[in-house]
Amino acid sequence: MNNPKIYLSSPHMGGTERGFVTEAFDTNWIAPLGPNVTGFENDLENYLGENSKVAALSSGTAALHLALILLGVTKGDEVICQSMTFSASANPIIYQGATPVFVDSESDTWNLCPIHLEKAIKDRISKGKKPKAIIAVHLYGMPYKVEEITVISKKYEIPIIDDSAEALGSTYKGQKCGTFGDISILSFNGNKIITTSGGGVLVSKSNVIKEKAIFLATQARDEAPYYQHSEIGYNYRLSNVCAGIGRGQMEVLDDHVFLRRKMNEFYKEIFKNKEGVTVFTEPSEDYKSNHWLSCITIDGAKTGFISEEIRLALDKENIEARPLWKPMHLQPVFKDAPYYGAEVSENLFKKGLCLPSGSNLSEADRNRIFSVLKSYM
Ligand SMILES: *Cc1c(COP(=O)(O)O)cnc(C)c1O
Repeated sequence: MNNPKIYLSSPHMGGTERGFVTEAFDTNWIAPLGPNVTGFENDLENYLGENSKVAALSSGTAALHLALILLGVTKGDEVICQSMTFSASANPIIYQGATPVFVDSESDTWNLCPIHLEKAIKDRISKGKKPKAIIAVHLYGMPYKVEEITVISKKYEIPIIDDSAEALGSTYKGQKCGTFGDISILSFNGNKIITTSGGGVLVSKSNVIKEKAIFLATQARDEAPYYQHSEIGYNYRLSNVCAGIGRGQMEVLDDHVFLRRKMNEFYKEIFKNKEGVTVFTEPSEDYKSNHWLSCITIDGAKTGFISEEIRLALDKENIEARPLWKPMHLQPVFKDAPYYGAEVSENLFKKGLCLPSGSNLSEADRNRIFSVLKSYM
C-alpha cells in the first residue's frame, strides 16, 4: 500500500472555521454578503494596518482584474508584469483587452528587476506607449525590491499593483506585504498560506476605491429601486460561507507563517553542506518571507544531478515537488508579448524546484521527505 500523498501546500484548518460556517447556516446568510464577509474584511484591515481598506472577492484573479479596471486600464493599453509568476498575474491584462509587457527578475528576490523595469518603461515611452500599470509580485512569499521599484513607479508616475497572493505574513522593513503599491491583492485559494477554499481581496488605502471595487464586484448597480446600470459589472464578491472559513484562518495566520518558516529551516539544515544546492532565502534583514513555498536551485555542474531527478525521486515516494513558475514570456499563450530582460527567470526555471512546504506537515512527513533527500546531501 502506498503512503498518503504529501502535497506541496495543502489547506490547514485551525479549528474555529467550522463555527463561523455553522453560524452562516444557522442565520441563513448563505449569500455573497453577510457578517462573515464584513468580519473577514475587518480582520484583514486590523492585521494589515496602515489604513488598509479591504474588499473581499471571489478570487485573487478577480482582485487583479478589478485593480486593472480601477486604474483605468482598457483596450489597447500596455501593462508591465513580472514575467516569472503564476499566469493569474498576467491573464487579467488580457481580460481588459490590454497587452502585457513582461520584465525579467533579479536573482536576489527572484522578483521584478528594477534595471530591466526602467529599460522597459523608457523603451515603451519612446514607442509612444506609456505603460498604464506595473504588476509586481512577491514570489513564494519573498518581498520584491520595494524601494527601488517604488522609486521607478513614482519617477514615471505609473501605479503599482502589488500582487501579494503568495505573501500574506511577509514583511519588507517591517511593513506587511499587501500594503505596498497603489492597490494590493491577496489570494485565499486552497494552496495559499491561509484559505477560504477560494477567495481573494483587493486592498487599497481609500474607502472610495474599496467601495468602487465592491460596486463593480456586485454587478455595478446604480442607486435605484429597480436594476439600473451605467457601467459593466461583475459577480466577484466573496461568499459569506467562504468568508467564515477565512475568519477562522485569520486566527492561525501567525502560526502558519511560523511553521512554514520552520519548513524552510528544515531544508536549509539538509542542504547546508551541499555545494551546488541553494535554499532560497532572504537577501538581507530587510526582508522577511512567509516562505509560502520553500524552493531550491541546483547547479548541476557542481552536484552531478539536476532538479528533475529529485522531483522524480520524491514523486516515486508519493511526495509532490514542482519546478518553479515557468516565466510568462516563455508561455505559448504569450509568445507575441514584448519582453525585457536577460535570462535570470529562465535559468531559475531550469534549475529550481519547490518542495513540500505546508504548515500541516508532520514529523513523519518530514522523515519521509528526508529519507529521499538524504541521498542528495
Ligand atoms: C494564487 C495566485 C494568484 C491568483 O489567485 P486566485 O485566488 O487563485 O485567483 C495571483 N497571483 C499569484 C502570484 C498567485 O500565486
